[in-house]
Amino acid sequence: MSEISDELSSIRDKIASAEKLAGRESGSTRLIAVSKTFDVEHIRPALVAGHRIFGENRVQEAQGKWLGLKDEYPDIQLHLIGPLQSNKAEDAVALFDVIHTIDREKIAKAIRKEMEKQGRNLELFVQVNTGKEPQKAGILPEETGQFLEFCRQECGLRIAGLMCIPPVDENPGPHFALLRKLAEENGLQQLSMGMSSDFETAVEMGATYVRIGSAIFGHRDYG
Ligand SMILES: *Cc1c(COP(=O)(O)O)cnc(C)c1O
Repeated sequence: MSEISDELSSIRDKIASAEKLAGRESGSTRLIAVSKTFDVEHIRPALVAGHRIFGENRVQEAQGKWLGLKDEYPDIQLHLIGPLQSNKAEDAVALFDVIHTIDREKIAKAIRKEMEKQGRNLELFVQVNTGKEPQKAGILPEETGQFLEFCRQECGLRIAGLMCIPPVDENPGPHFALLRKLAEENGLQQLSMGMSSDFETAVEMGATYVRIGSAIFGHRDYG
């Protein structure tokens, strides 16, 4: 077994234990393997091990790696987890199956327009800036309801759930709890939360997607 397949199965075991501990249905959390900065040679062992759900944070980088791999493995599900510019909406809608980072009206409109044009129906998440960090993307917690209303009413966009990235220096638990509360208040089923350092907490608090990079692929070198 390659190291990557070992890491994948160890993380799957930890997710399963956390689901059990929380009394959740087994398999109700899906694992996104975040492959940003890693090249095709690093990703391939995860595909060979049978993993099919991957996350990237840049549209252009993802096109370079995944257009070819999608030909080889047509059942790959690709998630955009990084900020999106509206001039990349066309490429993003063409390549990705799920977008986790809808956070302003302009992006919501651009995605809706591209989905219509391309006849594609992506699963969409609204990113919430639970820590209200000025440098971080996402809608403010208190504006979430209003923004979801805009997406639904004025944009005709169906939003599946909410996503957050808690501040690095804080206990993530309260942020996951806030995201869950906002989802419940707005009738949303999906929660994208939890990374390498805190995914077990996120699963216990109801994550339906965890986004895990370094614990699978190792330390990232941004060069
Ligand atoms: C990079 C990234 C992750 C994965 O982070 P790790 O700590 O390597 O697991 C998850 N979510 C987002 C939005 C990211 O950009």
